[in-house]
Amino acid sequence: MDADPMPFAEHSLATPDNPAGHSERARHIQQLLRRRDLRLRFPAELESEFRAHHDDAALRIFRASLTWLALLYLAMAISALTILSGSHDGAWPIIFAGFALIMLVAWALASTRLMRGRYQRTVTTLAALMMVLATINPMLEPDPAFRTLLHIGTVFVVVVVYLGLSLRLPYALLAGWGGGLPPLLLATLFGVSQDWTLVIPTYAGASLLCMVLCFRDERQRRRMFLQGELLREDQRRIETLARELSRQALVDGLTGLANRRQFDQALKREWFRAQREQQPLALVFADIDYFKPYNDLLGHQEGDDCLRVMAGIFRSQARRATDLAARYGGEEFVLLLPGVDMAGAQQRAEQLAEAVRLCQLPHPRSGCGPVVTLSIGVAVMTPQADDTSAEELVRRADAAMYRAKAEGRNRVVQADQDPIAGA
Ligand code: GH3
Ligand code: MG
Ligand code: MG
Repeated sequence: MDADPMPFAEHSLATPDNPAGHSERARHIQQLLRRRDLRLRFPAELESEFRAHHDDAALRIFRASLTWLALLYLAMAISALTILSGSHDGAWPIIFAGFALIMLVAWALASTRLMRGRYQRTVTTLAALMMVLATINPMLEPDPAFRTLLHIGTVFVVVVVYLGLSLRLPYALLAGWGGGLPPLLLATLFGVSQDWTLVIPTYAGASLLCMVLCFRDERQRRRMFLQGELLREDQRRIETLARELSRQALVDGLTGLANRRQFDQALKREWFRAQREQQPLALVFADIDYFKPYNDLLGHQEGDDCLRVMAGIFRSQARRATDLAARYGGEEFVLLLPGVDMAGAQQRAEQLAEAVRLCQLPHPRSGCGPVVTLSIGVAVMTPQADDTSAEELVRRADAAMYRAKAEGRNRVVQADQDPIAGA
């Protein structure tokens, strides 16, 4: 028996405790979305998906942001040139050249494939170098008035590092504190005096504020990622359900064979094709003999099993891609054979009947013998450009099948000859 009794995948269908039919993964994501904790970390698999997704987006945004970063740099450089040109002893021209160099390196790396998969690490390194330069800059400025301005300049760099580069919080912290603190501490250690009243409100204050904003930004990105994943899951689920539904609409639930609807569609299609190409279209229409007594005596369960066996035989008889075996209704099966003439169709019907007999399915109350048998009607038509419709082919095959019943069952009877097909 090769018919699949339960051909429908159940995983995509709703169950009482999962009325919307969501996948395990979707339910997991929903749980995470409901959670209100402060962790910036998903369970392992989702976390690595998020990171890959986030870094891809970050690289795209970074490439697009290089222009405004360059403009920001130019604005700062022009202000520095205008305001600080009076300071001759400071190192600010070298520092600004350093910023320009880092930006050039960033631009070069972003234009190649080198940053792919390494975005966070590469940008963190460059951002940390920026922070080093930004915190050293005021230390090297002897004029207190200019120094104040350079401290304010540090704030810009802090904002860019935490909020302008799409760094995840741990990397932003590494770049912000890891780049800024060591120069400050080392300088203090080696006796360079620090203007803490300026360092604290500028570098430290901006860093603390930007940390909070960066945290909120990442949390928001994570939520959006989860919502995006849910949408993608939903889309996958809807596509699966749609495929499942259209399959169910065309397949017989008991036998897994094409159902009546699929047969009707195929019949119409093949009828028009045969009309266009002036080819014969054959229909083999079979009905199980004495099936009611079979059911009555052996029970419906056995009856169903018998139908599945019949379906398997019909399926194996649909040999060419255009052949179609279908369950027409109750205990009636059809075989649609495009391009087959009456001689061919008769042969296929005989083979069907023989295959059923060879199956030797015991029938305890058949008027035709000890095993299950078929009565088969065969009709062939070459559709003409007149009003005759495909139903006429079914009507003829059905009528021939009834003649087979009337003539004693367990036989093949041909419908009236199709004059055009000449079979
Ligand atoms: P005949 O030789 O003239 O064809 O007689 P029959 O008993 O085969 O025909 P009849 O039309 O009187 O009975 C058909 C039976 O098929 C009745 C019904 O119980 C049975 N049947 C129809 N669909 C199913 C099904 O899905 N499962 C089962 N087990 N039986 C079915
Ligand atoms: Mg019947
Ligand atoms: Mg019958």
